Amino acid sequence: MSIQCPKCHSTRIGKNNYGKKTAGSIGAAGGTIGGYAATVASAKAGAAPGAFAGPPGIAIGGLGGLIIGALFGGAAGASVGVILGDILDENVLDNHRCLDCGHCFSGEPTTKPKLPIIRDHQP
Ligand SMILES: [Zn+2]
Repeated sequence: MSIQCPKCHSTRIGKNNYGKKTAGSIGAAGGTIGGYAATVASAKAGAAPGAFAGPPGIAIGGLGGLIIGALFGGAAGASVGVILGDILDENVLDNHRCLDCGHCFSGEPTTKPKLPIIRDHQP
């Protein structure tokens, strides 16, 4: 699949991916914040069984829950952000930039694939 510049018909096309970059970082930040909320819950969940092993158990269990919560929250947020940003890039923003003339344009012209009409020709 090669994309052509609608202005000068060059095939040297770059991608901006502004949406992906922005949404990816926002998603990661949001995910980390969301992960923090989950973190507090998992820290408590981790600390509970750790309580049987005494104070060091509480610390280890709580810390484990803290790390897991932050990691999962951040990762999940970033992937959601990247997916959303990708959709933004492809559909909303002029994601493609011609490297020859600098013209920005959105991807493929939105031609919906035509479904073949199947008709049963009864004799
Ligand atoms: Zn061009």
